[in-house]
Parts: sequence; C-alpha cells; structure tokens
Amino acid sequence: MSQATDYIQHVYQVIEHRDPNQTEFLEAISDLFETITPVLEQHPEYIEANILERLTEPERIIQFRVPWLDDAGHARVNRGFRVQFNSAIGPYKGGLRLHPSVNLSIVKFLGFEQIFKNALTGLPIGGGKGGSDFDPKGKSDNEIMRFCQSFMTELSKYIGLDTDVPAGDIGVGGREIGFLYGQYKRLRGADRGVLTGKGLNYGGSLARTEATGYGLAYYTDEMLQANQLSFPGQRVAISGAGNVAIYAIQKVEQLGGKVITCSDSNGYVVDENGIDFKIVKQIKEVERGRIKEYADRVDTATYHEGSVWDAKLAYDIALPCATQNEINGDQAKTLIANGVKAVAEGANMPSRPEAIAAYKAAHVLYGPAKAANAGGVAVSALEMSQNSMRLSWTFEEVDDRLKQIMKDIFAHSVAAADAYDVSGDYLSGANIAGFTQVADAMVAQGL
Ligand code: GLU
Repeated sequence: MSQATDYIQHVYQVIEHRDPNQTEFLEAISDLFETITPVLEQHPEYIEANILERLTEPERIIQFRVPWLDDAGHARVNRGFRVQFNSAIGPYKGGLRLHPSVNLSIVKFLGFEQIFKNALTGLPIGGGKGGSDFDPKGKSDNEIMRFCQSFMTELSKYIGLDTDVPAGDIGVGGREIGFLYGQYKRLRGADRGVLTGKGLNYGGSLARTEATGYGLAYYTDEMLQANQLSFPGQRVAISGAGNVAIYAIQKVEQLGGKVITCSDSNGYVVDENGIDFKIVKQIKEVERGRIKEYADRVDTATYHEGSVWDAKLAYDIALPCATQNEINGDQAKTLIANGVKAVAEGANMPSRPEAIAAYKAAHVLYGPAKAANAGGVAVSALEMSQNSMRLSWTFEEVDDRLKQIMKDIFAHSVAAADAYDVSGDYLSGANIAGFTQVADAMVAQGL
C-alpha cells in the first residue's frame, strides 16, 4: 500500500469513529476519497498538511431550536441547522433544505458536496448548507411564514454577504426566500447580498430560477457531444417535479430531446408526446399539487405509483432530479436494461455507490451531481456579484455566463481526469478538479 492509500484509510477511520451513524456524510466522503489517491500520490504536501482531516471537519456547525405557532394556535418545535463547512475560497455558500428527513448527517453530506461543487464553478464561494426537519407539505402560507421568520431569527446571527450566503434547496423556493429575507431585513437591515434566489423586484437575478435545470441540460449536452452523441432524437427520463426537474425538462426539449417522464414521491407520469413543463410548473409550483394530476389533464399521459427507476421504459438518457439515494444498484440495472447511455445528476447524490459502479461496468456515461447540478449555485454567485455592483444583467447575459460555466466545468473535469490517467471518468475528474482547488487554497493559507 502506498503512503497515500494508508493516509486515506486512516482519515476515513478517524471520521467513522467520530460519527459512526452519519451514513450519508460517510458516503459522500468515500465517494471523494475513492477517487483522489493518484492526486495524493503526486502531492505529498497535501498529506503533510493533513488536508483530508481538515477538509472533512466542518469549520463550524450551528444547531438551533425553531419554535413556531401553527394555525390552530399550538406551539411547534423543529430543529434548525447551518453547517459552515469550508471558507478556503470564499464565503460559505449553499442552500437551506426543509424536509422531514433533514438531520446533521444529511446537512453535512450536502455541505461537503457543496465545497467541491462551488469550487468547480470557478467563482469565489466556499461551501455550506443548512435546513430543518420542518415538513412544508400541507402547511398554510402563514405557517410557512411563521416558521421562516423563527428560523431566520436565529440564523441571522451567523450569516452575512461576506461570511455566509444561504439560498434555496428542497422545500425552499421563492416564497420561503421572501419570508426569510423579510425577517433578516427586520432584524439586521436591508442587505440584499445575504441570500440568493430572491425575487426579481428585490435583488434577485434573472435566470436563477431556471439555472440548476438549464445548467444540467448544458452539462449533459457537453458530455453527449464529447462522446459523439446529442440530444435530438433522444428519449430522456427525468425524476422529480420541482425546480430542478421543471427547467431541465424545458431546456432538454429546447435542445431537441424528448422527456417522457417526471415524478414526485408518490409516483410518476409517462407522456409519450413529451412532458409539457408548463403543466408540471402549474401543478407543482402554482397549485402545489401532486404529479398524478398531470395525467388527469393530459390525454397522452399515464400515472403510475412507485419509483420511476423501477419502470420498464425505453430511454437513452436519465436525469435524476428528485433527491439523494433515489437510484439503488438494482434500479441502476433497470436503467441499463432500459437502454440508458448517459446519466447526469440534477439532485445531490441521487445514485447510490452500487448504482455508480453499475453505470461504470456497463460503460454508461456518468455526470456526477457536483458538476452536473452546479448551475444553480453558479447563478447564485452571479446574483451576489450583481447585488454588490447594484445592477442587473439581462436574462441572456446570465444564461450565456451559465452556459460557459457549465462548459468549463465539463472541460476542467475532463482535463483533471486526463492528468491523472482516468480519462473518461467524469466523477474522478470532477472530484479531482474541485479537490485540488480547495486543497491548494487551504495549503496556501496555512493551518
Ligand atoms: N441548493 C442548491 C445546490 O444544491 C443551490 C445552492 C445555492 O444557490 O447557494 O447547489
């Protein structure tokens, strides 16, 4: 065993010993560690500086109580988190997730991924993530508002435009960012740069809403073209029906692909005519309904209970845009049997490690989340720039920058993979490109 493999194993054991039950976090760490041995072999300075142990321990974790009043007048309590993971290349940046599954392991895995994703954008943003186990499903607007106000009352003590800039994630969209910003302003003053994903009339950026989905389509397009493929004529399976999925559907269809499915946590719809993103948007974002209703409105569509990744359907490209671990090893085999040639991730860590191994064995092109879904946070960083300059770029200007950033992410991942003899492995390439940027900044800044 080389010094590098010894060191990697040692650090993994240290972390496992500290947090044995943080499954998602440990998986995110393994995913990185499995790909960076060649880097550590060539850069003993990273081992000398003990970069891996430093990188995997968050700079700061804030956990707090979030009391709020429901519509029946009952006092309710949730748990709030903000993990300020790494600020080597800029202020902490990353979303807030509101979902009953949120716990420290989930927030740490998301924050850890965010460090490298943000580095890949080439913009000066560090990594962080936050959220709460609050379940927005079935809550009234007033309940959402009271929760957001209480959450921000505590969070406001720790964030700021040069320190930590939260944004949305699952369960946090324009409505929630509005309530959070309103409360921040009440407590600390009108500092627009403190949150991204804001409404256009109070400091938001054009194309931020579309950015993650569009960016995913741009990244996938690059990956296809590098392999003599392209969207026109391809059948595409998408999971999810939230902000990422909706705009991925729109852009894939603009690029010539046909999206045949989308889903929510109950089931999925299949539309052989191509999913109409406007109807999904109306159901999910305006009416806050369930995806089942798509099939009630569209004659050519059918609704099925269960996971779309268990379905036997013919498609060429899969874009998981729902949530972590949505594709297990067996489901990956179903994707492959369905004819999939490329998988690119709109959600964070949607493929389990066994699924990634199955793609690799079957030579399926694989675009990992931290590269493929970086468009959202990239445009958040552009929103921060516009806020600081006190100006607004046009939709085209932001979209052009997004396109270029996604092209660069793909190109840098390819170059990093080539440099370490793992050509064609876009996961290793993204991990190496993100990791070396952060590690270099940490070494330069000393202990
Ligand atoms: N939640 C998004 C992500 O996973 C965006 C974060 C942001 O814009 O800060 O990257």
